[in-house]
Amino acid sequence: MEIRAAVFRDNSLKPSIETLEMSEPGAGEVLVKLTATGVCHTDLKTAVTDRSPRPVVLGHEGAGVVEAVGAGVTDLEPGDHVVMSFTWCGDCPSCQSARPAYCYDTDHFACTRPDGSHYLHGADGPVHGDFFNQSSFATHALGRRRGVVKVRKDAPLNILGPLGCGIQTGAGAVLNVFRMKPGQTLAVFGAGSLGLSAVMAARIAGAAQVIAVDLHPNRLQLSTELGADHAIRADGGPVHERVRDLIPHGVDFALDTTAVGPAMLDAIASLAPHGTFGFVAPTEGGELTVPLRPLMMNRKVVGIMEGNSNPNVFIPQLVDFHMQGVFPFDRLVRFYPFDDIERAFHDSEEGTTVKPVLEM
Ligand SMILES: [Zn+2]
Ligand SMILES: [Zn+2]
Repeated sequence: MEIRAAVFRDNSLKPSIETLEMSEPGAGEVLVKLTATGVCHTDLKTAVTDRSPRPVVLGHEGAGVVEAVGAGVTDLEPGDHVVMSFTWCGDCPSCQSARPAYCYDTDHFACTRPDGSHYLHGADGPVHGDFFNQSSFATHALGRRRGVVKVRKDAPLNILGPLGCGIQTGAGAVLNVFRMKPGQTLAVFGAGSLGLSAVMAARIAGAAQVIAVDLHPNRLQLSTELGADHAIRADGGPVHERVRDLIPHGVDFALDTTAVGPAMLDAIASLAPHGTFGFVAPTEGGELTVPLRPLMMNRKVVGIMEGNSNPNVFIPQLVDFHMQGVFPFDRLVRFYPFDDIERAFHDSEEGTTVKPVLEM
């Protein structure tokens, strides 16, 4: 069948909207007609680096309606509403212990089926798909069943795509990794979609105090509207001193979403004894010199992938939270028509839009 997709042929943020031929769903695959797809920083980063092969269709926060299923898919049917998320092997020690985000054997950036074959073809040959099990900057996407999550039909499908990556990462950091308990405290460094999702999740967990740190006043304002008790503008001077002015022993949890070395060190320095520092992306060079003496007090440093989420369990839970009114992540979203993908990328980079969502 023919689809329209944003094809990245060079290392720029300027894809071309092209008509491609898409194969029928194979065994274990699901064909989704996309309603809307969120833009994540990983899309932007992948577009300008060699992390994935070219030409490629990116996009990994898709939501839509099942159009067809391949052989062996018995628990989804045409018409079901779904959120697309990452996939996993099902067999490695992480998958066996229900932590598929840490799958040993899945490469979200390989952009072919596991057997190396392509299901997208353009005028001049194959186009890479399967980016995070979806390549959803397109009208249609193919995903393997285990990463395609059925959601309730009364939820607004056009905002649900970001639950498949950014929002489950921020909320999962708090609920699945930190396992925050009532009365505990959190500081979030970087109040973008991940950080703000963490703020909302901390409120659900019964946090005593939540601190948001950012440079942009508009994001800090939004953080307080979404449940942060304190907003700190990181405009010079160590933030950890201002955290300790508010909570003298420091916070139980600090989450970095900036991947900026000095901010990460500031976050670690904000921790109380026994506190945990979580980060969702490495620094630009992949390294950071961390002082070890504070870690002697049982402070911990953990890397977090996809919020350690089990998408088929966690995404429906987040949808329920939203429908109950306690997880208003729609406040982060601004819609763009699919053809305005470059403007959505631009606004995401500028920070003027927290979570752009392309409507197909
Ligand atoms: Zn695995
Ligand atoms: Zn992402």
